[in-house]
Amino acid sequence: MRNIRTPLLTLIISLLILASYLIYTSKLDKVEKKNEFEIEIIKSEEWGALKPKCTYDKNPYISAIIIHHTATSNTYEDAKQVIRSIQSYHMYTRGWCDIGYHFIIDKDGKIYEGRPIWAVGAHVKGHNIGNIGVALLGNYDEAKPNEKQLKALINLLTWLCIKYNIPIENIKGHKDYNPATKCPGKYLYEKLDEIKKLVEENIKRLEPNKLNFTINSQNSPNIITKLKPLNTNNF
Ligand SMILES: [Zn+2]
Repeated sequence: MRNIRTPLLTLIISLLILASYLIYTSKLDKVEKKNEFEIEIIKSEEWGALKPKCTYDKNPYISAIIIHHTATSNTYEDAKQVIRSIQSYHMYTRGWCDIGYHFIIDKDGKIYEGRPIWAVGAHVKGHNIGNIGVALLGNYDEAKPNEKQLKALINLLTWLCIKYNIPIENIKGHKDYNPATKCPGKYLYEKLDEIKKLVEENIKRLEPNKLNFTINSQNSPNIITKLKPLNTNNF
């Protein structure tokens, strides 16, 4: 009798330990997932980008970000079409290799990949090396950027600052480099300090070492990363 009971007891205890372990880890998993979300970047192939018409110069480092607006209409329906026309203008009227910006954010907060991040941009005269160009699609001298766009912008900036160790003070508006331009428009420019403050708060709250960056493109360090929710209640 004793010989049968002992293994049975051992089995029951083992099963109980296993069950509590599974419950514990599944709870952890739920908590973790609840506190995460993804940044999704629409790749250039997905918006129908033309191939670059020349070889890019490579960024020897990445140390700053410039915020722009595209100064195009605010009433567009098809963001991809507008981005294609900007690319065409940059390539065939301005004579650049590709669209000048690295990222474009539309009015729905969707983020589009411009030229690859490792390539030197064409968005700020004399300061392109190491400087990432992020443009909000529309004219923010005429309209205020909406909440979705600002949240997407803050997410993107948070990710870029963490990934490339870019200091917050190196996030600037185009007109900080070139006072003659209105870019990124007065309504976006007046938000810059608030945007930078929120990005800084996010970086402090996040645990950058634990973030999982997934590289799923040969040409860009996009696309998916998981970050904890951001404090964007102010918008
Ligand atoms: Zn600009």
